[in-house]
Amino acid sequence: MNGTFDPLLDATIRHLETLRERGVGHVNVSAETLKALRLPASRVGGNLPPAKPEAAHPRITIRPEREPAPANQTASPTPTAPPARFQAAPAAVEKPANPITDIPDTQPMPSSKAQKTKAAAILALQQKALACTRCAHLAASRTQVVFGVGNPDARLMLVGEAPGADEDEQGEPFVGRAGQLLTKIIQATGLDRGDIYITNILKCRPDTPGQDSGNRKPRPEEMETCLPYLHSQIDIIKPGVLVALGTVAVEGLMGPGDVISNLRGKWLTYRGIPLMPTFHPAYLLRNQSLSIKRAVWEDFLQVMEKLEMPISKRQRQFFLNA
Ligand code: SF4
Repeated sequence: MNGTFDPLLDATIRHLETLRERGVGHVNVSAETLKALRLPASRVGGNLPPAKPEAAHPRITIRPEREPAPANQTASPTPTAPPARFQAAPAAVEKPANPITDIPDTQPMPSSKAQKTKAAAILALQQKALACTRCAHLAASRTQVVFGVGNPDARLMLVGEAPGADEDEQGEPFVGRAGQLLTKIIQATGLDRGDIYITNILKCRPDTPGQDSGNRKPRPEEMETCLPYLHSQIDIIKPGVLVALGTVAVEGLMGPGDVISNLRGKWLTYRGIPLMPTFHPAYLLRNQSLSIKRAVWEDFLQVMEKLEMPISKRQRQFFLNA
């Protein structure tokens, strides 16, 4: 059997590596197999050589199969230690529990699996929102629900107040002139719209009865009614930083308070996540002063620092010395 052990071991290692490439973080083996693996090699398959320490796979954990956990209870790790030569460090990314996407597993999910889970959860939430009629007057007047757009695994989430006429027509937040300016600000940080997530507190355009055009600010009770959708978006995406765009958005999240010119640039916390208030890009369109542009840019510099993004000397100088 000496001649067959090494090929078998090599084949096992190759199989584990293939699994790992497919995103598998662990494999289960029966208690009997584990017991056999711990026996001296000679008792498992005859005159086998001792296990080679170098046979350990660095990134895949082999663990004993466990009894199914009772309903609503996460299974605890088995007290039986796996063979030392197969033990490996846990995967690097530990995802916190999520009320929507939580999976009862003691092992961290590979990031690609976590990303797919987030994308599926966002999609399911979006389907729910698209059919929402909780605000009968807005459901009757809207062209479509403007749910949000971007990367479900984004580290940065921008939150505005409500869709306007352009957004209502196109079904995407921040697509009008203010949105185009916002896109330029995002690109100045080195990111694209697709890297981040953009949404509003209110998902339907505030109605303007008797008016053919124009927008109105959302009412506090309208934002309050729609806020659970934003909470779910935040809880699924779990961004590292939130940015609230404009006074109404800040008030919708934090309640009535100071004016945006006093709030901007100072970190707040919302649902445990750092929140940076800044001016709405529509305000920038109305006020073209360099000092206002620089103020917004300084807010985004703080966001970049919080996210540990690289910042060049040139980026630090934007809107200075002009
Ligand atoms: S604003 Fe929000 S809560 Fe109201 S109908 Fe639209 S999606 Fe539903």
